[in-house]
Amino acid sequence: MAVEREKFYECEVKRKRVRATGGYEPFWKVKLIAEALVDNDTEFRCKDCGGAVKLFRRHTEGAPPPHIEHKLKSDSEYCLSGMYFLKATDGRESRMSQTPVR
Ligand SMILES: [Zn+2]
Repeated sequence: MAVEREKFYECEVKRKRVRATGGYEPFWKVKLIAEALVDNDTEFRCKDCGGAVKLFRRHTEGAPPPHIEHKLKSDSEYCLSGMYFLKATDGRESRMSQTPVR
């Protein structure tokens, strides 16, 4: 039986924008993973908890489309869209990652 895995098809990617006062400032933008790959984005994080994610960019036939998973189980346990959080039955509340990507 296949092991159940997290699959998110949206993430936040780090982009730069022009600051009103001049120069650039980084900001996080929600994007589809597939789109981020086309755009060659290199920095990703979970859009719900800001936690670190692992990127899966497989293009093999039959494999799921490019997606991300939480790197840390502790993020998944308390992330709004985390697999472990959604499965938890103790009525816990979601929270942001303890070690967010900035
Ligand atoms: Zn998350």
